[in-house]
Amino acid sequence: MSSERIVIVGAGHGGVQLAASLREEGYAEKIVLLGDEKDLPYQRPPLSKAFLKRATPEDGVLLRGHAFYPQNKIELALGERAAEIDRARRRIRLASGRSLDYSRLVLATGGIQRALPVEGADLDGVLSLRTLAEARILRERLEASRNVVVIGAGFIGLEFAATAAAQGRNVEVFELADRPMARSVTAETSAFFAAEHKKFGVKLNFETSITAIKGSGGKVGEVVASDGRVLPADMVLVGIGLKPSDELARAAGLDAPNGIKVDERLATSDENIFAIGDNVFHYNTHHGAELRLESVQNATDQARTLAKLIAGKEARYDHVPWFWSDQGDLKLQIAGFLDEADRIVLRGSYEARAYSLFGFRKGRLTGVESVNKTGDHMLARRLLEGALPVTPEFIADPASDLKALLKR
Ligand SMILES: Cc1cc2nc3c(=O)[nH]c(=O)nc-3n(C[C@H](O)[C@H](O)[C@H](O)COP(=O)(O)OP(=O)(O)OC[C@H]3O[C@@H](n4cnc5c(N)ncnc54)[C@H](O)[C@@H]3O)c2cc1C
Repeated sequence: MSSERIVIVGAGHGGVQLAASLREEGYAEKIVLLGDEKDLPYQRPPLSKAFLKRATPEDGVLLRGHAFYPQNKIELALGERAAEIDRARRRIRLASGRSLDYSRLVLATGGIQRALPVEGADLDGVLSLRTLAEARILRERLEASRNVVVIGAGFIGLEFAATAAAQGRNVEVFELADRPMARSVTAETSAFFAAEHKKFGVKLNFETSITAIKGSGGKVGEVVASDGRVLPADMVLVGIGLKPSDELARAAGLDAPNGIKVDERLATSDENIFAIGDNVFHYNTHHGAELRLESVQNATDQARTLAKLIAGKEARYDHVPWFWSDQGDLKLQIAGFLDEADRIVLRGSYEARAYSLFGFRKGRLTGVESVNKTGDHMLARRLLEGALPVTPEFIADPASDLKALLKR
């Protein structure tokens, strides 16, 4: 019997996709999928969308059904935390005391929400949102709250804020930057969303932080803002960014400057250890720089690429990054990168609440942001994938038929 065994640490989007894709690629050896959460692996995006609104039942968020794992001979071990990697013996030690030998190890450990370093952040009702267990608590708390405070105007904070406002809650969002989603979208799209959130009834406070959270009996009651205001709060959602879970890798001496460093074959500085997903620091060919991405697309495409490589096929990770966020009735979709664009061209209109911004650098299309324009987004991905030539003038002309570009 072969002793070949792949151990995947982390049963989230990347880990589950890898196990599934390995079988699809014909990999017939042992696969162990370890996850430290107790729930059957699930999708995270609905936690701040349909799940929060009770628009989907709990089993509607599962990544795969119960039967999938035994049917595909994937040994799923839930509630098991990998605690240490012994690279010399190719063995990992679990927090439960068990040890597991591996021939190849994949770190798909994602990340955790950054903790808020202020007084009172440990009070009951100060919550974060990464896991299904946290989402259950958050949803119940939201339903029982009147005054809701959100710290951080990133994607998760804003998705939550829009839902809370739609449910009639009094919602105040605090953000250190001078605009929403500042790290991820253009100033134009930030301005559009700031105006729309106001219409949703969300109160946005920029360049303002929370300096203390106060309460009584261990429960949150109010927040103190850096501008001196004291606001009532029945609950606080902290959404100030993700910290990659790379401590296992660092303790094992792997290169992990901001997430685990991998090459285009997803290999770490140890040839038997790979990493995929939110915890990965890689050179991105579409950005021309090393970075970490936090998206379902990145985790699942890296998983598919790695599965091919492990199955002995040719592959490299150079996919066009894409992302989406649903806020109220607005669907924001981003393909590629616009942060270094020297020219931005608008198609559609802000007034119609349906537009796309095409970003060009030195005449080349680098990224597209779309709002309620799914057709543009799908097309943008194909344009960027094929590096198809398109000029700003062509995009700027409302009469231009974008679909015709693909047929050229
Ligand atoms: C509320 C929310 C909404 C989101 N919305 C969107 C969206 O709209 N669009 C989008 O593209 N992306 C969205 N994302 C981001 C997306 O979910 C992540 O990019 C994706 O989950 C990354 O997959 P991953 O496999 O790298 O990590 P994860 O899915 O986080 O999986 C990692 C798993 O590893 C486990 N783990 C960590 N350390 C260990 C250990 N030592 N031992 C065992 N297990 C361990 C973790 O507990 C976790 O279960 C959202 C995320 C959240 C939280």
